[in-house]
Order: sequence, then C-alpha cells, then structure tokens
Amino acid sequence: MTSPETTHLLAEKLSQAGLRLTPQRLAICRYLAGSRLHPTAQMIYDELRPQYPSLSLATVYNTLEALVGLGVIHSLGNAGDNATHYDADTSPHVNLACLSCHRVIDLHSHHVNDLRDEVAAASGYTIQGARVLYYGYCPECRGKNNL
Ligand SMILES: [Zn+2]
Repeated sequence: MTSPETTHLLAEKLSQAGLRLTPQRLAICRYLAGSRLHPTAQMIYDELRPQYPSLSLATVYNTLEALVGLGVIHSLGNAGDNATHYDADTSPHVNLACLSCHRVIDLHSHHVNDLRDEVAAASGYTIQGARVLYYGYCPECRGKNNL
C-alpha cells in the first residue's frame, strides 16, 4: 500500500472506532504511514510537536493504542530500549531490532509467507497479519563495539 492509502485507512478506522479525527490524530496517522523507522510514541511526539504545539504525549499513546486495537498497526514491543515500537506495515515480514542502537529494520523473505500459509492450513485460521521480530546487533554496531 502507498503511504496516502495507508494514512486514509488508519484515519478511517479511527473514525469508525468513534475517535474524533483531530489534525493531531491525522498527523499521527500520516507519520506512521510514511515512516519506515518503526517509531516509538516518544519519537512521534518529538517529530510532530513543533508543528502541533497542542499535541500531548497522552494523545500519541492513546491514538497508537486505538490503532493497535483495531489491528491496523502492530506493536512490536521494545528493541532493548524499554519503549514500544510501532509498525504500520502489517504485511508478513521480518523485523530486526538492534539491541545497541535500538533501530528496527524490515526484511522481506518468502519464508515468512510460506510460514503464514503453513500456519493457516494447519490451524484453519484466516491470518490477518504477522509479527516476526529478531533481536541482535546491526553490522554498524558490531563494527563499532566489537559485538
Ligand atoms: Zn545498531
């Protein structure tokens, strides 16, 4: 999905769930849809606050929680930094979290799709999405810190 489509989907879901589509909430949706950084609530807040001075961290948190509850974004858990990272890409892919710099990257592998198909066939479930998270040290941090 392209970023404007994703933004639209996130906003529509929020509105269907009964949340008022304020400019702040819309900006959060747009940021999530356009970001490949797997942001935390604090990252989103820091990024949007200059443009939306009335934005509160609580609004960021409750918007993210609502979107996770609606199944349109994923909560990836922490990347060794005790902060929850979020992903608006709910298609099956691998997330790789670096325990040193706390960046999370995407890795697309056909094995994830194969595993999804296997799980669906074995369980009879309709699979709505998948989260696969690996932890480790990225090449940059390995080089810097001898990890
Ligand atoms: Zn790293």
